[in-house]
Amino acid sequence: MDTKELEEAFAAIFGKEADVTVFSPGRINLIGEHTDYNGGHVFPAAISLGTYGAARRRDDKKLRFFSANFKDLGIIELDLDNLIFDKADDWTNYPKGVIKFLQEAGHTIDKGFELYVRGNIPNGSGLSSSASLELLVGVVAEELFKLKLDRLDLVKIGKQTENDFIGVNSGIMDQFAIGMGADQGAIYLDTNTLEYELVPLNLSDNVIVIMNTNKRRELADSKYNERRAECEKALEELNALLNIKTLGELDEATFDEYDYLIKDGNRIKRAHHAVSENQRTLKAKAALAVGDLEKFGRLVNASHVSLEHDYEVTGIELDTLVHTAWEQEGVLGARMTGAGFGGCAIAIVAKDKVEAFKENVGHVYTETIGYAPDFYIAEIAGGSHVLSRK
Ligand code: ADP
Ligand code: MG
Repeated sequence: MDTKELEEAFAAIFGKEADVTVFSPGRINLIGEHTDYNGGHVFPAAISLGTYGAARRRDDKKLRFFSANFKDLGIIELDLDNLIFDKADDWTNYPKGVIKFLQEAGHTIDKGFELYVRGNIPNGSGLSSSASLELLVGVVAEELFKLKLDRLDLVKIGKQTENDFIGVNSGIMDQFAIGMGADQGAIYLDTNTLEYELVPLNLSDNVIVIMNTNKRRELADSKYNERRAECEKALEELNALLNIKTLGELDEATFDEYDYLIKDGNRIKRAHHAVSENQRTLKAKAALAVGDLEKFGRLVNASHVSLEHDYEVTGIELDTLVHTAWEQEGVLGARMTGAGFGGCAIAIVAKDKVEAFKENVGHVYTETIGYAPDFYIAEIAGGSHVLSRK
């Protein structure tokens, strides 16, 4: 969607010209899954699938929001003086949360605005359309109200919206990748310190194929919170003898020595994933830095194994995609990406094998699951940014 289309779409809905248009990407995560709330490393990248927005400031306190992805809901009207979560307001709870937390952080938003949104990230597929929307609204507000805002503060406000307004206990990875993304680079982030590095993604003759299970996501958010609680409990048990703030501080040898302190088999597996996945992420980044793509691919595979057997967040849909991908010619590695329980997986595939890959994996998946997956080629993109201003 180009800027002109976006401006026209805004005018068609609201009858006036937009003040600003914005793009906010989605993200994939190369490796380092379910490590962000465990003080570990993650390695995501912003992608060109994303959310487009156009907005115009008002003179009163009305908020009028329209999403082309939820056309049936029409224009949802809200009041700047009443920013509380209400299920009936559907997707507009995300912008509401962002505006509320911006205000609480001391930024003046004293007038309403109109917002048109249209995204091409499949919702609920693990490519983080929600964080994309949060950052989009942040950049819109920044523009309309001339806010002086650090990008990192906006990233944190996105996370706060997800955690304290929507009620998903997610870590900082999604908002960080989407807010801080850069063309041609993945973000190697230490979620403990928020130090990060942009790492060029030199994949030689390979591309990243995103595979969407198209599974309807149901219990994902509650399972997410459950895994988080299991890790917190395991950490507490380990601290009977250790003195650590996060599981990310442990290497595998130390974990091995102390895991007997954890009084439950499932919790041992969850914590083992958090520790081993963090270590794999360090190794994967090092492998990529020296161009050892084969090793990078094996670590990506190992990540999936750990998510399947230790963390148990995959399911037959993701496993079918990934296991089938592993068997295809020209595949360096494949794993689920995002929170799991459905959603998307990624595979690193030789460019000239992509068509055969899609056909074979698509066929096996459809035979096994009963409906087809979707495939997209991931193009790395920059973080949320303004497209045009009046
Ligand atoms: P994910 O972040 O993995 O895509 P979530 O369930 O966290 O899945 O977020 C999806 C929700 O985010 C949607 O149900 C909707 O409320 C909101 N959302 C995302 N993109 C858009 C959009 N383009 N327009 C309106 N709402 C959106
Ligand atoms: Mg989300």
